[in-house]
Amino acid sequence: MITRIMDVSQEPINMENIREAAEILKNGGLVAFPTETVYGLGGDATDKEASRKIYQAKGRPSDNPLIVHIAKFSQLEQITSDLPENAKLLADAFWPGPLTMVCNKNQVIPYETTGGLDTVAVRMPNNPVALALIEESGCMIAAPSANTSGRPSPTKAEHVYQDLSGKIEAILDGGAVDIGLESTIVDLTEDVVTILRPGFINMDMLKEVVGEVRIDPGIVYNDKGTTEGAKPKAPGMRYKHYAPKGDLTIISGQEDKVVSTINKMTKQAIQNGQKVGIIATSATRDRYEAGEVLVIGDRDDEGSIAHNLYDILRQFDELDVDVIFSESFATPKMGQAIMNRLLKAAGQKTIEVG
Ligand code: AMP
Ligand code: MG
Repeated sequence: MITRIMDVSQEPINMENIREAAEILKNGGLVAFPTETVYGLGGDATDKEASRKIYQAKGRPSDNPLIVHIAKFSQLEQITSDLPENAKLLADAFWPGPLTMVCNKNQVIPYETTGGLDTVAVRMPNNPVALALIEESGCMIAAPSANTSGRPSPTKAEHVYQDLSGKIEAILDGGAVDIGLESTIVDLTEDVVTILRPGFINMDMLKEVVGEVRIDPGIVYNDKGTTEGAKPKAPGMRYKHYAPKGDLTIISGQEDKVVSTINKMTKQAIQNGQKVGIIATSATRDRYEAGEVLVIGDRDDEGSIAHNLYDILRQFDELDVDVIFSESFATPKMGQAIMNRLLKAAGQKTIEVG
């Protein structure tokens, strides 16, 4: 199969391309498209065959459920049962936006889409291309991230092309995405709203709307790099996550000490014949003396760090580095989401330098 790339990066959106992509979806095919979080790999969520094709294209385990993307609140009501009051409150506050709600499903969405679960994860994306595609196709679109399973989520159309070229009908190229980390997932099927995956919408923002909020103990790591709680409830959080080819270590602590430690470790690694990558910020870049230094963003602009994280991890794979040293980014709002992804990529390996 030849994967077509269709440009939708200009305003007003090229509706001819949206209509062609919508036809592909209506005929059971797959189209990757931009959302505000990462690129999604879309198929008709009510079509078992389309869901099977999504798992196959990604090489994703079939018990790892897909998120259903909708454009109207009434579509949530169409596919769920016993919808709690909190769903309406959260939708009013955050939709369209980077919040996924897990609710009890009815029979409209097949088990092939929900990985065999009786619940369904639903989100209304805040991206004009995604919304136009949902509306034009008339489909609710099942869409996991448009990467090969085990690689970083795609934040640019070319990342999708690298992973899925020849395996899907088309990619709508809307340029680089905005946020760059996957949506926050909350479970609404229990008494207290529970965060199953951290994202841009953080605990404080959720508390303002629904009061009490918990975090799934299965995703909270202690100092020893293990979780206190049972298995994570979001199946995707149980799988071994993306590990870059280079062995990644996070160095955290006071900035001067972090920089000098990374410089020392880099020198040592180079002496041992290793190629070194460093994840720096715009403020620290020039203080690193050796290695391939990539700037993730600016500490005062935490959005820039989230936005560039996956792209940088992909770049280090291409540079074929043996080891990667990264600063730590426990920033005020998105820190939990950023560090959740970075720590997973590092296999929880952190050095504290005081
Ligand atoms: P992705 O879109 O690739 O980030 O993957 C979607 C993730 O949403 C999955 O890996 C699951 O962890 C989570 N998810 C989807 N549906 C459910 C559900 N019904 N219950 C819990 N988690 C879900
Ligand atoms: Mg994913």
